Amino acid sequence: MSDDGKLILAIDQGTTSTRALIFDQNGQVRAQAQKELPISTPHSGWVEQDAKQIWEDVVAVCRDVIAKIGIDLITGIGITNQRETTIVWDAKTGEPVYNAIVWQDRRTADFCKSLKTEEGIIQKRTGLLADPYFSATKIRWILDHIGGYREDLLFGTVDSYLLWKLTEGRVHATDITNASRTMLFNITTHEWDEDQCNLIGVPRHMLPKVHDNCHTFGQTTLFEKPLDILAMAGDQQAATFGQACFEKGMVKSTYGTGCFALMNTGEHVVISKNRLLSTIVWRINGKATYALEGSIFVAGAAIQFLRDNLKFFNHAGDSQTLAQSVADTDGVVFVPSFTGLGAPYWDPDARGAVLGLSRGTTTAHITRAVLDAQGYQTRDLMNAMVADMGSDVLKSIRVDGGLVANDYVCQQIANQTGVDIDRPSNAEATVWGVAAMAFLQAGIFKGLDDITGVYKRDKQFLPRDDIQNKESGYNDWAKAIKAIQSFAR
Ligand code: ADP
Repeated sequence: MSDDGKLILAIDQGTTSTRALIFDQNGQVRAQAQKELPISTPHSGWVEQDAKQIWEDVVAVCRDVIAKIGIDLITGIGITNQRETTIVWDAKTGEPVYNAIVWQDRRTADFCKSLKTEEGIIQKRTGLLADPYFSATKIRWILDHIGGYREDLLFGTVDSYLLWKLTEGRVHATDITNASRTMLFNITTHEWDEDQCNLIGVPRHMLPKVHDNCHTFGQTTLFEKPLDILAMAGDQQAATFGQACFEKGMVKSTYGTGCFALMNTGEHVVISKNRLLSTIVWRINGKATYALEGSIFVAGAAIQFLRDNLKFFNHAGDSQTLAQSVADTDGVVFVPSFTGLGAPYWDPDARGAVLGLSRGTTTAHITRAVLDAQGYQTRDLMNAMVADMGSDVLKSIRVDGGLVANDYVCQQIANQTGVDIDRPSNAEATVWGVAAMAFLQAGIFKGLDDITGVYKRDKQFLPRDDIQNKESGYNDWAKAIKAIQSFAR
């Protein structure tokens, strides 16, 4: 039989939902199923999810899509996931010892502050900064919470936990992109870093084995026929792959709950001088490609805030019409840093702010300010990337995520960054990315050119220079960022 009809089952375990999608080789989605995933916030700054629920939902959505399409043509599985989210479980019972601590969780902020003097060495080893965002301090918190490490405890990010469950405890492994977000993995030697494990207080032997992204990780026999797990990748790295950013200097920026921009920096680690993260974007056949990453914790979540908390509109898409019903923000600046500032500021204590209110301010002005903030945030990240990599490197940005359905936002990003913004016709860049990796591992795709061949642009937004408030708007934004840092709790 030819490879033509062969399909990949891709699992997308995200912060807001768990999905399963079936892809063909053209990047077309043949079937999909989704379950919303609740979040609990037991204390201010704490964010947790039920790891058992995550697993049950994965099984349910997989069964659902398999029932829709039949299992015969499915060649294997790819897994992409919310990164950094931390699960510790007991290998004997298979039970998590604590809820999954989600990437957004800030409970280890004080511990991270105590690591500030070590930040230079941490960055050199792991490419990351001492921030609660990453898994390491979350693992340590769980161990302390349950009275210390004991035999049989295993750690995994969500990919690793799902792999262990899918293989019924036979395989404890992860992929190199997820490993590189733990703050325990040395991104130069490609090994768990003993000194880093000792610094944080995490026993080395509870960590999973690390493999390339395209790798036959194991086999699951939970469905009607055995299926190999052929690829795994953290969500932002998978999106960079799905957007076919294979050349040095290419950038993708995803606007979902948060905003994550990655620039391909080639075969060598670039340690940022501008507070960006260095990360492995993929490793295939033992050869790693690196990226600089700017992570902003709140992007689309600010639109949800306007919709759900402030009741400005009923649907996220209505934000565009409302914002465009006024000519400008009338001096309003909205900084959506509800859970602290990410790159390039890294201030976990900062909180959001609306500045410049006047008697004439309306919901439209505030909404426009929230949409404009997406452009300013992206400009901050691109400024840092250009400072690290040189001004000629940035040519365009490939965008994806729920928020980029909003044309006004895409245009604003183009105006502020001064480069072309390309929106792909495949809205599923993240999950397609890991499906494409699985097609490679299955030998159905022969090389990266096959993935470049699938990429199609839906629309391009060119920067406009005739925007009146372009510079004054950005200057107000910069002043607002300073103001909230001095106001930090
Ligand atoms: P995630 O994968 O992080 O759950 P998505 O990529 O699904 O996020 O994007 C959802 C986010 O995009 C939500 O926060 C929503 O408010 C926002 N969003 C969706 N459509 C629009 C739109 N047309 N305009 C503005 N924001 C939007």
